Order: sequence, then structure tokens, then C-alpha cells
Amino acid sequence: MKRSQKLFQHAQLFIPAGVNSPVRAFRAVGGTPPFIQRGKGAQVWDADGNAYIDYVGSWGALVVGHAHPEVVKAVQRAAERGLSFGAPTEPEVELAELLCKLVPSLEKVRLVSSGTEAAMSAIRLARGFTGRARIVKFEGCYHGHADALLVKAGSGALTFGQPSSAGVPAETAAHTIVLDYNNAFALEKTFERDGAEIAAVIVEPVAGNMNLVPPRPGFLETLRKLCARHGTVLIFDEVMSGFRVALGGAQALYGVKPDLTTLGKVIGGGLPVGAFGGRRDIMDRIAPLGPVYQAGTLSGNPVAVAAGLATLKIIQAPGFFDRLAATARALCEGLGRAARESGVAFSAQHVGGMLGLYFRATAPVSYPEVLQCDKEAFNRFFHRMLAEGVYLAPSAYEAGFVSSAHGAAELEKTVGAAKKAFAALR
Ligand SMILES: *Cc1c(COP(=O)(O)O)cnc(C)c1O
Repeated sequence: MKRSQKLFQHAQLFIPAGVNSPVRAFRAVGGTPPFIQRGKGAQVWDADGNAYIDYVGSWGALVVGHAHPEVVKAVQRAAERGLSFGAPTEPEVELAELLCKLVPSLEKVRLVSSGTEAAMSAIRLARGFTGRARIVKFEGCYHGHADALLVKAGSGALTFGQPSSAGVPAETAAHTIVLDYNNAFALEKTFERDGAEIAAVIVEPVAGNMNLVPPRPGFLETLRKLCARHGTVLIFDEVMSGFRVALGGAQALYGVKPDLTTLGKVIGGGLPVGAFGGRRDIMDRIAPLGPVYQAGTLSGNPVAVAAGLATLKIIQAPGFFDRLAATARALCEGLGRAARESGVAFSAQHVGGMLGLYFRATAPVSYPEVLQCDKEAFNRFFHRMLAEGVYLAPSAYEAGFVSSAHGAAELEKTVGAAKKAFAALR
């Protein structure tokens, strides 16, 4: 038996399903996950010594690749000075100032330790600021696992959201209105009816948790206009898209400014950092300036902040995001050609360094269209690619990621593997 399989069996004795986050268990694609031992640049190696070109990149966090020497050095130096103080430190101010400089809508920002925490705190802040309870989210968007956000659309005429997880009280979910992503009409109707009660709209400005679905032209602009008209706080959840689709995130790419923004993933460079920030008048409602409580023992942790700062330094180099997007584009084109040669219904697109691969003739523009992708074809493709040394996200409903460490050699190897994998689908 492979060492990864043994480790996975052992893990299940002590950790539910053997994993600390569900998608890692490979339930969507079947089989057992490789246990990763180390990573360098665009590659990871598993416990059996197999090498893979990695298109997960810790779910987008590793925009400069694994174990980048400058990031590792920054972490080591910070660790030597002490791991945590629970008191103010200079580097966290440097990170906050840099985030405000780079992300167009940020005037003030608070650091936290995960994207979940950032989204949960932003929702509480929006509610505290407006004195309203209801929020709007979109089906297929993920904002971490806070109760108010683990909600799916109610059936039929029900406008109340339903819990999408056991343990979320129906009363909590009832405050969340769930709408279709990219559907501006449904949004206008909802605001006409309930606008005065809606504290916040939270949206992934580039959806990356239902595979990749970019915003339709006008969708984000409509959101902005409606929220402004009704005194609703517009929250862009840029935990994934921030420093991933462009240096200033999706708000820089599309030129739409939210009131609050949540960040995570890239800003920690592989260590646990999240952030939420935005308009000064809203942010100043947080404790101890204002009545909205929020806190964290490890918030602004100096080692994590060092990793984030080192990563942000690298990605500010001129042309970084042009090169990242060019890599993603070349990969999409190569995969598209390989699929056509085999006559497989497939499409691929990217926004900056985020990838969408779909077993469907055209790229989906909505969650229902994402669900129409051929999941069985993806699963077979996934396992063949894994066997060929290419590690894709283990679900048809996840986005993919390239890093600055992915170069021509990695792309060539990936497209070569894909030719075999597509041919095997015929
Ligand atoms: C990953 C993600 C989160 C949750 O972040 P965690 O650090 O996993 O808690 C929230 N929102 C979006 C858009 C994400 O992609």
C-alpha cells in the first residue's frame, strides 16, 4: 500500500474523515488524497516521492509559488524575533498601510487570521453600522463558514434563506436572502421590496468557489448603484480575488468600489492572515472606537504578517500580473487545443491568475450553468492528470491557480498530460 494511503487511513482514526477541511478528503472525485511532504516553486511532492505540478497553490494563496526564498527568509527572521506578542508591532502597521495603498477602496483595515473571520466580522460591522439585520448573498459564492453565510436559497416562494449546514439555526439563516449570481434583475426586485432592511450585500466580485464565474458586464455596477441608493453596505469578498486577478483585486480590475472588502489567502503568503477594511466612517464603528465588537489573540501575528509583506513586495514588481495572466492564458489555450483534438466538450478561461476549467462547450455564466458541467468527465480527467503528475483542485466546482513559478516547462508538461487525459475520455 502507498504511504499516502496508510497515512490517510491512520488520519481517519483521529481527525474526522482524516482532513482538516472537507474538500481535501477527495469525496468529490473519489480515491485517496496524496499526503504532501514538501513544495518548491510550482511543484509539490507527496509522501511516496511523486512530484506534481500544483494548480491549487494552497487554494490561491501561493501566488509566488511554494517556499519562495524571500518569503521563507522573512518568516525565519520574524520567528527569531518572537512568535507572538498580543501587543502592537510595527510590521502589522506596515501591512495595513500597504493594503490601503494597493486596494482602491480601503481607508482603514483590521487584520484577522482567516477569510472566514474577515467575512463574519464584515457582516457584523455592516449590521452594526446600518442597524439592519438582513443580508444578501449569492448562490455558489462562498464566504467562509460563519452561520449567517452557510445559507442556500429557500424553495419556491420562500424568500427566507435555509441553512446549508446542520447546526445553523433557521432563525439565523432567515436573515439571509440568497440570489442568483450575475442576475441584476433579481437584485433590483429584491431591493425594491426589502431595500430598507438590507444591511449588506456580500459578493465574490469574481466568483471562484463555484469553479470560476466572472461578473457579467454591469452586474457589479448594478450592485454598487442599488447599495448606494438604499444605504446598504456593499462588501466585496476578495479573499480569493484580492492580489490574484490584479494587484488591487477585482475592484481595481473592474473599477467598482465596495464599501467594505475582505481579504485573505495571498495577503498571508501561505500563513494565516485575513483582513477586512474599507470606508473610514464604517471601520471606525469597531471596538474600541465604536460599539461593534471584534478581536483576535493572534490577529496581526508577526510571523504571518512577515510572510504577507514579503509576498506583497514580490508581486508589486512591474509586469508581475501581466506575466501571471499570460501564463494562465497560455494554459487555457493549450488545454482548449488539446480538448478539441480529442473532441471533448470543454472550455477554459482565466481572470488574472485564476483559472476556470469546464467540461462544457462554453464557459458558464451562472451557478445553474456550472452545475451542468460534466462532473464524471472531470473526475476521470482529474485522476488521469494526477497520475501524470498534475495536481488540480479535487472537485469540478473549484477554481484553479497559477503562480509566478509556473513557466513554459510546466505548461508544456501540463498540456502534454492533458492530451493523454482528454484522449482517454473519448
Ligand atoms: C477561501 C475563501 C474564504 C474563506 O477563507 P478561509 O481562510 O478559508 O476561512 C472566504 N471567501 C472567499 C471568497 C474564499 O475564497
